[in-house]
Amino acid sequence: MNPFGSTETIVVDGMSIRLPNLLGNPNDLSPTSIFEKPSWMPDSEAVLCLGCGSKFTQLRRKHHCRNCGKIFCSKCCVEKIPLPHFGTEEPDKVCNNCKLIVELMIKAKSQDPLLKYEAVLGFASLLTNVAGMSKVIECGGIHIMLSVAMNGDAKLKSAVASALHSVIQSMTLNHFLVEAGCLKVLKHFLSTSESNELLSDSLSSLNLLCMDAAIRIQVLKEGLVDSLLTTIRSASGITSVFASRILQLLVCNFEHHEFILQNHRRVIPGLFEALQTEDYQMQGCVSKMLMYFSANSSTFREMIIYEDMDRDYPLLFLLKGTCQSVLVNVTCIVANLSLSIEEAYTSHYISGLCELLTFVNKENSELLTQLGRGLANFAENASNTLHMIHHLPNIVSNLLKSCFEAPRVHACRLLVSLFSSELPTALDVLSQSGLDEFIETIFDLPGITDVLNNALLRKVSRLSVCKQQV
Ligand SMILES: [Zn+2]
Ligand SMILES: [Zn+2]
Repeated sequence: MNPFGSTETIVVDGMSIRLPNLLGNPNDLSPTSIFEKPSWMPDSEAVLCLGCGSKFTQLRRKHHCRNCGKIFCSKCCVEKIPLPHFGTEEPDKVCNNCKLIVELMIKAKSQDPLLKYEAVLGFASLLTNVAGMSKVIECGGIHIMLSVAMNGDAKLKSAVASALHSVIQSMTLNHFLVEAGCLKVLKHFLSTSESNELLSDSLSSLNLLCMDAAIRIQVLKEGLVDSLLTTIRSASGITSVFASRILQLLVCNFEHHEFILQNHRRVIPGLFEALQTEDYQMQGCVSKMLMYFSANSSTFREMIIYEDMDRDYPLLFLLKGTCQSVLVNVTCIVANLSLSIEEAYTSHYISGLCELLTFVNKENSELLTQLGRGLANFAENASNTLHMIHHLPNIVSNLLKSCFEAPRVHACRLLVSLFSSELPTALDVLSQSGLDEFIETIFDLPGITDVLNNALLRKVSRLSVCKQQV
C-alpha cells in the first residue's frame, strides 16, 4: 500500500522519483516511522555498474545497494552502515550515491537534537537539486523531516520551515508534501509561532500551497481556518494581513462555506474581532471575507447581524470611513444583510446607508451600485420606506442621476417601492426639491421607461383576463 496517493512515482524535471512506502499508519507523523525496503533491481538488467560504468565480468561481481536496490561494482558499493529508516540496525552495504542520505537518516533518527538539526540542514541542501531530492524522498526523508519538526525545538522547527518553504516554492512536490503531512506541520508551526521567521516561512508556504484548489480543500479539512484566525488576531501588522489574505483564498469559494459552517463556526466572531483595527488593508481583507459569507447563506447573514449588533455596529462605523474599497465591501455586506435583518433593526442600517449617500464619491460606480442595491432592497419592505423618504433628494441627485447604469436601475427600483408605499410624501419631498426637474431628468435617461415598466410589472401583470364571466 502506498500512503502517498495512488501513484507510486512522481516525475520532477523529467526524473521519475519512487515514493516511499510507509509501514504503519500513514497519518502518524513519528520519527520512529519505518519504510518498506525497495525491491532489488534484477541481476539480468545490470550490464554496467551504475556508479562507475564499468562492465560486470566474472571477476567484477554485482552488488546490490541495500538502500536503493540498484546494482554496483564492489568499489562503488563498499560502505556498511545501519539503515534505521528500514528498521535495520545491523550495518548493511550501501552504494556511494546513497551514503550521504543514509548518514542523514541516521542523524535524523537519533535522539540528539543537534544531530537532528544537522540532518535537516543536510536534507535542505539535497532538496535543492532533483538528484538529491529523489534521494531524500525515496528514503522517506521528507516524512522524517516533518515528524522531527513536530517534536523539535524552535531552532529545528525554523530549519524545517525554511527547507519546506524552498521545496514548496518549486511547486512540483506540493501534492506529495500534503500527502506526507506538511499541513499538519504548518498548523503546528502557526500554533507555536515561536519566531517571526517561523511564522513568515509557514505563511508563505501555506499561501503557495493554497494556489491549488484541491490543496485548499485539504487545508480546510486540516483545520487551518482556526490557525489562521488565531494568527490574524495575535500577529502584528503585515504578518496579520498576510494571514488574512490566505484565509481569504479559502473563504472566496462558496463551495467551502458549508464545510466552514459545520466545522468553524467561530469564523464570523473571529472576523469581527479582526475588524477592530485601523489598518485599511486589514479592514479591506476582513470585510471582503464577510462580504462573501453574507452573499451566500442566510445562516451566515444571521450570524453577521448578530455579531454586528452584539458589538455595537462596527459595520456601521466602517460606513463612516474614507477608504473606498472598505466602503464598497461594507456597503455590499449591508445590502446583502438587508434580506435577513429583522424589521425592528433595519432603521440603523438604512440610516447608515443614507448618511453615506450624502458624501458618496460620485465617480465610484461600484459603491453607488451597492448603495443603490442596499436601499432598494430595504425599500421592498414597505415599513422601511419611511426611514428613507427624506433622503429622496440625495437618492435622486446621487443615484438616479448617476452617470452609471446600475445605480440608476437600483434607484428606479427604490422609487417604484417608495411610490407604491409613500406616494403623497414622496411627491411632497420631490416637489420641494424640484419635482419638475426630477420628472424631466427621469424621462431623459435612456431606457428609463422600460426599466420602470419592468420594475412595476413585478407587482402587476401586463396581460390579464377578465374575471367576470361573459
Ligand atoms: Zn562501480
Ligand atoms: Zn544506493
